[in-house]
Amino acid sequence: MAFEKDKDTEEGELGRCTPDSSYFSAFIVFNPKRLRDVNDNVIVHELLHCLTSEMKSYMVENGKKDSWTTFFDERLVSQLASIIVRLNK
Ligand SMILES: [Zn+2]
Repeated sequence: MAFEKDKDTEEGELGRCTPDSSYFSAFIVFNPKRLRDVNDNVIVHELLHCLTSEMKSYMVENGKKDSWTTFFDERLVSQLASIIVRLNK
């Protein structure tokens, strides 16, 4: 995980995960201008993208990724992050 200048995040974005599923690694960047908003939910959300990246890579490799893939990926990791954070309180 890294806290860098916002060059790797888009305006308003809290964080970004760039996973490499073939090496089970990821580069996670948080927007330093929005660190006040980075909470457990955001961190877990970005970490969960590491798990779903393998599925997304498979879909890309097999021509099955479409415009809904990112939408459902975001919904899945957001919902799982909420559950995980709630269970750990
Ligand atoms: Zn996300």
